[in-house]
Amino acid sequence: MKTDVVVIGGGSTGAGVIRDVAMRGFDAVLIERGDLAQGTSGRYHGLLHSGGRYVVSDPESATECAEENAILKRINTNAVEATGGLFVVTSQDDEEYSDGFLAAAHAAKVPAAEIPVSEALRREPRLDPHLKRAFEVEDGTVDGWQMVWGAVRSAQAYGAQILTYHRVTNILREGNRVNAVVVHDERGDEDVRIECGFVLNCGGPWAGKIAELADCHGVEVVPGVGIMIAMNHRLSHNVINRCIHPADGDIIVPVHPVCIIGTTDVHADDADDLPILHDQVQQMLDAGEALIPGFRQSRALHAWAGARPLVKDSRVSATDTRHMARGMSVIDHSARDGVEGLLSIAGGKLTTYRLMAERVVDIMCEKMGENRPCRTADEAVPAAEDTHLYAIGHRLEDVENAGDAPGTQKIICECELVTQEMLESTMDAVPGGNLDDVRRQVRLGMGPCQGGFCSQRATAIAYERGDVDIERATGLLRLFLKNRWIGLWPILYGAQVRQAALDNWIHEGTLDVEHLPQPEEEVVR
Ligand SMILES: Cc1cc2nc3c(=O)[nH]c(=O)nc-3n(C[C@H](O)[C@H](O)[C@H](O)COP(=O)(O)OP(=O)(O)OC[C@H]3O[C@@H](n4cnc5c(N)ncnc54)[C@H](O)[C@@H]3O)c2cc1C
Repeated sequence: MKTDVVVIGGGSTGAGVIRDVAMRGFDAVLIERGDLAQGTSGRYHGLLHSGGRYVVSDPESATECAEENAILKRINTNAVEATGGLFVVTSQDDEEYSDGFLAAAHAAKVPAAEIPVSEALRREPRLDPHLKRAFEVEDGTVDGWQMVWGAVRSAQAYGAQILTYHRVTNILREGNRVNAVVVHDERGDEDVRIECGFVLNCGGPWAGKIAELADCHGVEVVPGVGIMIAMNHRLSHNVINRCIHPADGDIIVPVHPVCIIGTTDVHADDADDLPILHDQVQQMLDAGEALIPGFRQSRALHAWAGARPLVKDSRVSATDTRHMARGMSVIDHSARDGVEGLLSIAGGKLTTYRLMAERVVDIMCEKMGENRPCRTADEAVPAAEDTHLYAIGHRLEDVENAGDAPGTQKIICECELVTQEMLESTMDAVPGGNLDDVRRQVRLGMGPCQGGFCSQRATAIAYERGDVDIERATGLLRLFLKNRWIGLWPILYGAQVRQAALDNWIHEGTLDVEHLPQPEEEVVR
């Protein structure tokens, strides 16, 4: 293959970058080793930052978040829910931090206002009844998968090519200039060489390893791991932040029909190995109790971990990820390593994905001597054209207004209201995909029953359509259940144990999934 620009990494940064590059008229190819947003961008907290979280600790990031928050509400409407947010001082917190909160917010140009505690409790009746103070901010929630898909579809409309399940294995040079990358097709099991004029490394917590493929050593992107837990209800409608210095478990984010408590921040050696420890789970549940008394009594559905791509900050210790800056860094490998045609970008937030792309593509254009301005803030992605901001009732509305007589739409996943039509059009869009590829797009199996009922229905549909033979169908079902189980195991307590037992009876007791016909090799992707 031959192209102008290769973008490595299909997370939010890479998706923003490929869109920007394509909109500026370059030929471009995006390479992602797994599915889109399968790295950090699919394993994060879901908060569209107002900037409030950083007004004291990192005002520059706070301002960027506030500005991008407003832009994303225009260009990614289908992925964003404008829930609003509250910063609250609970009965366990002292008021020192909150005393400086408003002044810091105003200085960073982050819209914020103090509201009476009675009003905060009216909006969110489950909050600690002894709150001391409350501030409203413009937090929202953002579906990382929808946002990434939106940017990628926009890029495709501008002619970009997207290669998922392709891993970059080498970055080649002619003299001191990068001129090609070698990628391995993970599903087709073959190597592809892509000749190019420029490479943009958007590898998130893997960006350092990717830079090494071009012999650029010592790029220290430190994985700062955080765990999150989804609870089976929206216990709040606003994003709830504890009004204290950023700490563990200080934010609850309502996302689709659930809410998510998070997060921790500890250094990991390997971004591919992120264990979820029992004491961290307990710490999150305790933190939830401080904000919402009785938090532990709701059912914990699923836990997961992601790794922040934090660029090493010489001011803090190499393992103190909580205090590393959240801002973005562009690494110019011509200045740093004498390697032309390669830039790396890491850090930042999902909320600032568009701005990160603008910055790195501006630098690339400057190096190429091209004057092509960025237009990504002016144009909505295709899925967001003519669409209002996402609202929790949208799927129900779609099912009710589908034109058929009520009740004729087959619902495959009741928790997330996934219809057979939605499921099949997604299967059409990801030929050769597995059930997790489908899940990431329509949230199959992500609600309260965690795939107990929908997983076998979806498998049967894939088989009946002729997408897979019986052995691969079983393999896909087992892979899907295995991946769900990874996130269930750390939070098995209380009512969730009963749900897990029910799901197990269905899968093992009734369907005997363990002994269904299987392919000779275990299905792994
Ligand atoms: C716990 C946690 C909570 C967070 N909460 C929020 C939040 O609420 N709001 C917010 O705005 N931000 C949040 N963030 C930050 C945000 O999620 C990240 O900044 C953002 O997702 C990073 O995106 P990225 O594209 O740079 O990295 P990634 O999403 O990790 O993308 C990098 C991609 O590179 C791919 N890759 C790696 N090696 C190769 C290779 N050799 N070949 C091809 N592809 C490769 C990976 O598979 C991956 O998909 C959170 C982060 C964490 C960890």
